[in-house]
Amino acid sequence: MKTFRSPPVAIVLTHGHFDHVGAIIELVDYWKIPVYAHEYELPYLQGELKYPEPDPTVEGGMVAKLSPLFPVEPINLGDKVQPLPQDGSIPHMKDWRWIHTPGHTPGHISLFREKDRTLIAGDAFVTVKQENLYDVFTQEKQISSPPRYLTPNWEAAETSVLKLRDLQPELAITGHGHPMQGEELHKSLNYLADNFKEVGVPDHGHYVDEDDQR
Ligand SMILES: [Zn+2]
Ligand SMILES: [Zn+2]
Repeated sequence: MKTFRSPPVAIVLTHGHFDHVGAIIELVDYWKIPVYAHEYELPYLQGELKYPEPDPTVEGGMVAKLSPLFPVEPINLGDKVQPLPQDGSIPHMKDWRWIHTPGHTPGHISLFREKDRTLIAGDAFVTVKQENLYDVFTQEKQISSPPRYLTPNWEAAETSVLKLRDLQPELAITGHGHPMQGEELHKSLNYLADNFKEVGVPDHGHYVDEDDQR
């Protein structure tokens, strides 16, 4: 296990999917530190709502096919998780602000630091085609819309990608895939944003034709 020189003072979650919360309950109990998330994400972190079932019918390969095995049960952090401040600031993270980037989940956020234009995008977009098992293993870089099998609201997902593109990040760290920067990032993020309906949204799948907000 990785040892930390000094324990963290807080944990900020981009969203509550199982692959992003890890051993959080144990860590929070051990370190006795607060967790912050968007208020719309709280029901999923306090045991009240579970995420929509992964959609295995979405086009795009093996990880999508395996996705029904992924847990969607909510974890319950109780009062250890708190809503992020309304003004966009992030406790303990001076220079950073959070941006609401829903679509992949209702309370998904990204984190941005203006002074060097660093973006932590969570799953709002990723730099590997996460549905494709081969690409996941090789981590071949390719900017891509949120993991398809777990994204219920594609309209919001598009708006969020446009929002992030408009920030003109210099470096993007995403929830899946390697970091991407400079010219490669500008080009691929512009391409994804400008062609989201063609390259970002799956051609078929349960969530594609639904316009309800989840
Ligand atoms: Zn996710
Ligand atoms: Zn993820």
